[in-house]
Amino acid sequence: MNLILMGLPGAGKGTQADQIVAKFGMPHISTGDMFRAAIKNGTALGKQAKSFMDKGDLVPDEVTIGIVRERLSQDDCKAGFLLDGFPRTVSQAEALDAIMTKEKSQIDAVLYIDVNAEHLLARLTGRRVCANCGASYHVTYNPPKKEGVCDRCGGQLTQRPDDREETVHERLEVNIKQQKPLVTFYKGKNVLKKINGDQPIDRVFEEVSRVLGAIAQ
Ligand SMILES: [Zn+2]
Repeated sequence: MNLILMGLPGAGKGTQADQIVAKFGMPHISTGDMFRAAIKNGTALGKQAKSFMDKGDLVPDEVTIGIVRERLSQDDCKAGFLLDGFPRTVSQAEALDAIMTKEKSQIDAVLYIDVNAEHLLARLTGRRVCANCGASYHVTYNPPKKEGVCDRCGGQLTQRPDDREETVHERLEVNIKQQKPLVTFYKGKNVLKKINGDQPIDRVFEEVSRVLGAIAQ
C-alpha cells in the first residue's frame, strides 16, 4: 500500500504513523528524515538541498521531488510506503503522481486525520516532547506514566516553543491554507480518506486500520 498521511500539526499524525508502521510494516518516510539521509549520504541532491538549507532558503521543488523519487525507488518501498510531510503543494502532488505512474503504481490512500480546531488548539498546547529521545506525549491524550518524565528513557519532557499558544494560531492558519488545495486534489482522485481525529488515539487507529484493511483486500 502506498499511503500519504496528512493532517494539521497536532492532529496526532506521528502517533498514527508509528502504529501504521508497526501493524502494516511499510517504511515511514518523513520529509525531515529523507533530507537528513540524503545529506548524510552525500548524494548529489542531498548536497544541493544542503546548500539551500545552509543559506536558510527553501529547498526548491525540483530538488525535493528528486530526493523523494530516490527514496521511493529504494528496495524497502517496493511493497509500499507511508509518506509524511510530502507533498505539501498540488504541484508536488502532481510530480508524485508522475513518479508513481512511471513505476506503474499509484497512491492508494491519503489518510487525512481530521480534527476540530478547538480540540486541535488543546492538543498543540498540551504536547510535550522528550528532550533526550524525542518521544512525544500529550498531557491529556497521551500522558506519560509519570508527569514530566519520558516513559521510554526517563528524559525530561518539555514544551516546544512552537507549541506555545501565541504561536499556534498563526501556524494553524498557514497549514489550513496550505492543505486545502491538496485535500481537494486528492478528493478529486477518490483516494482521500478522512479519519475522525477527535477521539482517543486507539480509536483513531481502529478507524485507520479499518480503512487500510479494506484497501489491502
Ligand atoms: Zn525519552
